[in-house]
Amino acid sequence: MPFNPMRQHFSAFNDQSDFKGIYLDSGATTQKLQTVIDITNRYYQSSVNVHRSSYKLASDTTQKFEDARRTLQSFINAKDHREIVWTKGATESINLLAACLPRSLLQKGKNIVISTLEHHANIVPWQILAEQYGLTLKVMPINDNGVLLLEEAVALIDEHTVLVAIGHVSNALGNINPIKSIITKAKTVGALTLIDGTQAVSHMAVDVQDLDCDFYVFSGHKMFGPTGVGVFYGKLPLLENMPPYQVGGEMIKKVSFKGSEFLGPPLKFEAGTPNIAGVLGLAAAANFIKSNRDTIVKQELALSRYLQQSLASLTGIKIWGDPQHKIATFSFTVNGVNHYDLASYLNIQNISVRVGHHCAMPLMEALGVDGTIRVSISCYNTEHELTNFIEALKSGICLFTNNSDSVFKNKISEEKAVDRPGELALAISQAKSWDEKYRHIMLAGKSFPRLPKEQLKEDLEIFGCESQVWLKCELIDSTLYIQGDSPSKVVRGLLAIIFEYLRGKRPNEVLDFDLNTHLKSIGLDRYLSNSRANGIEAVLDRIFDFCKEYSNTQN
Ligand code: PLP
Repeated sequence: MPFNPMRQHFSAFNDQSDFKGIYLDSGATTQKLQTVIDITNRYYQSSVNVHRSSYKLASDTTQKFEDARRTLQSFINAKDHREIVWTKGATESINLLAACLPRSLLQKGKNIVISTLEHHANIVPWQILAEQYGLTLKVMPINDNGVLLLEEAVALIDEHTVLVAIGHVSNALGNINPIKSIITKAKTVGALTLIDGTQAVSHMAVDVQDLDCDFYVFSGHKMFGPTGVGVFYGKLPLLENMPPYQVGGEMIKKVSFKGSEFLGPPLKFEAGTPNIAGVLGLAAAANFIKSNRDTIVKQELALSRYLQQSLASLTGIKIWGDPQHKIATFSFTVNGVNHYDLASYLNIQNISVRVGHHCAMPLMEALGVDGTIRVSISCYNTEHELTNFIEALKSGICLFTNNSDSVFKNKISEEKAVDRPGELALAISQAKSWDEKYRHIMLAGKSFPRLPKEQLKEDLEIFGCESQVWLKCELIDSTLYIQGDSPSKVVRGLLAIIFEYLRGKRPNEVLDFDLNTHLKSIGLDRYLSNSRANGIEAVLDRIFDFCKEYSNTQN
């Protein structure tokens, strides 16, 4: 395997790391640079506060903290270091703007324009603000592949537009949006512009002066930096005219019981002790990216090309988004194969990808899917990892389409699911390997009785799972009768495990059920430890609520 020199900067890939496997989820968060870890550790080894005390260590740390602001200023080419405001991350940065946008702008009949591609963090704050102040929320449309329709998009921006808020890069699909054209149009009508750069900053150079956007936001943890720190960039005159975000220490010029005066930007927006270690770590990450930009871009481009070709050669695959203008993120679905099933198969091969709606539910609805698999690559990935991923993906597709090339060669079609009470748990607990246990789950999922289509409605749907799940609880002769459904075979198999145990029990007996103990007893605890993510816990909560309600009526 050709050596990727980028890997040596990340401790996740050294031999002592707990992380074993292939990480293809950098869009969720990137691995952290060793320098970032070292700098944050060093701060915690001798902690002092900033902007308060004047003894040497405190003033040195304040100096480093403010140097970090200048590093980030240079990272996005802001005009003035006071335009860099520290926040917890992109979500807080967007909420800050929603809270501080001058209320005089928010008049009834005005509008805010966002796009169909936005992350929830760049939808919900504007939705709430629009509702509160009687503004209209306009949504820029996309084509069938999920690419912004530029002509229609700019046509939505009119003289009533107060703000255009759009992602630089779509987190769900990886498209690079034509933000320059959008900013230009917004300027012609005097609208403010917010660019959510969360998925852009680690992949491409950003120049906010060249973009001429009013606000630009991003999170440290998506650019090899710490979690819990991010940037809110705003043009200085705008920041000067905005009210503070939160109030308290750090942002105060003078307080008396007659009234208080605040500092100017950026401290005006930074009430309380900031995330000092995070800020120092973020500056280290920004320095690393800046000095390795060419290598990062080259590596990601080579990997992207390789993955694009490999994915495109698979039958039945649909890659969403813009194949031309994109970062190294690939979002896809496979005909006839549930995305959650595929991702859970990849998971057992130690390959980490993201599955589901990617915090972009309206986008998924517009594309007519309930989720995709997202592979997001960073400069530390290798071609060898992608080859292994493609091989595992092919095996997974074969398995779920019952192709004879399947890794479980013919076993699925030869075997029948166990269907006597307690047999499923017994079969799983006696299975010698994870592959065998998994096969039993799949078989149970395959033969699981489905709910009639007309019952698959919102009232039975359980939210918070990576795959869609519906659940119907009834009491028959004072005992629990449960039915459920999911497009995912694996989820149906997991439902079968719980249902087998709980069905026919009295509500008070159901309430004694302990999921972890049960999973342990059948040897699944190691594999299904994150039961919240795969939805079993949410299913159980609903069953418990049903039983509690019944128990209350009996008391
Ligand atoms: N915007 C985009 C495009 C994102 O991808 C994300 C996170 O995935 C966010 C906003 C929210 O970022 P954070 O959770 O770091 O605040």
